[in-house]
Amino acid sequence: MRIEEDVKLDFKDVLIRPKRSTLASRKEVDISRNYQFKWSGRDFSGVPVIAANMDGVGTMEMAKVFAGMGNGLTAALHKHYPLEELLKFYEENGNENVWYSIGVSDKDEEKLDAFLKSGKDIDKICVDVANGYSQPFTDFVRRMRDKMPDVTIMAGNVVTGEMVEELVLSGADVVKVGIGPGSVCTTRKMTGVGYPQLSAVIECADAAHGLKGLVCADGGCSVPGDIAKAFGAGADFVMLGGMLSGHDQGEGHVEEDEHGNKHVTFYGMSSSTAMDKHAGGVAEYRASEGKTVQVPYKGDVKDTLQDILGGLRSACTYVGAVTLKELSKRTTFVRVTQQLNTIFGND
Ligand code: 5GP
Repeated sequence: MRIEEDVKLDFKDVLIRPKRSTLASRKEVDISRNYQFKWSGRDFSGVPVIAANMDGVGTMEMAKVFAGMGNGLTAALHKHYPLEELLKFYEENGNENVWYSIGVSDKDEEKLDAFLKSGKDIDKICVDVANGYSQPFTDFVRRMRDKMPDVTIMAGNVVTGEMVEELVLSGADVVKVGIGPGSVCTTRKMTGVGYPQLSAVIECADAAHGLKGLVCADGGCSVPGDIAKAFGAGADFVMLGGMLSGHDQGEGHVEEDEHGNKHVTFYGMSSSTAMDKHAGGVAEYRASEGKTVQVPYKGDVKDTLQDILGGLRSACTYVGAVTLKELSKRTTFVRVTQQLNTIFGND
């Protein structure tokens, strides 16, 4: 047994220190980024915020709205769309605003193979497992890279630099970072495993950038300021679940309680709700590591996004960053809480 004494921080343990700036208005800030992916060689240009591949968030409706907004936002489609629906979606909408999500099961791979056989152009995939530390996962990423040399691959989740390096070297263009911070995740409580998300992003971004890879901070953003902190910490993309839940584009039912309050059911993708819906129940060998919550109904996601992107622009203004790219260079975090408060993450 070993104890690491270094302090590790979550979003709520820090604030961004304001800095002298020549910017007069947030309108002057450009929050899009341009990347060329290490392996696929493809270019990305747009606001690097991704809707998580979760029921109620990573939906086709969400992707369509993002396409209409024209600012390069993308949605990682959840894994449970049938092949026919995916083919139809790509046929009608193209691939610009979506990531095709895949797990490592034979069933997922067979569906992907059938999709590829159709000849539809797939340009980016998200290989997503709860625990990205297993050798079979790395082998899977390597196999996907061999199979699809010019497709952009995002893979995760991990939280430490050495595993980021392993995945980048195995063919991932973007490594997804986050174990335990999600709003409907119970991994930290069920297993005791996790890593404070701000420190995970700082350390993983450093490791990835050294190899010309990128990272996506996934989970734990509950307000626009957290997104600014993630980018300030060095994230290249930020993925959002809870913040984009509860909208018209989530394809879920809006319920109304006796006081007239409207809400939507939102659940983790390894919650018993998700497993009942998609896998016919919780498999015997695993415990549910996600929960089911009611979130307020929030209407059209475009309004929420305006707030989120406005907050991000404003954060850039406070530190004098003319572009989102400059934000991390101009970020100084000040610590504001004791670490012990953060160990158990969100409740
Ligand atoms: P949020 O933005 O809601 O804080 O976090 C979203 C992320 O939580 C997702 O992208 C995914 O990585 C993670 N997540 C989604 N469902 C579950 C779950 O059931 N269990 C765990 N451990 N993580 C989940």
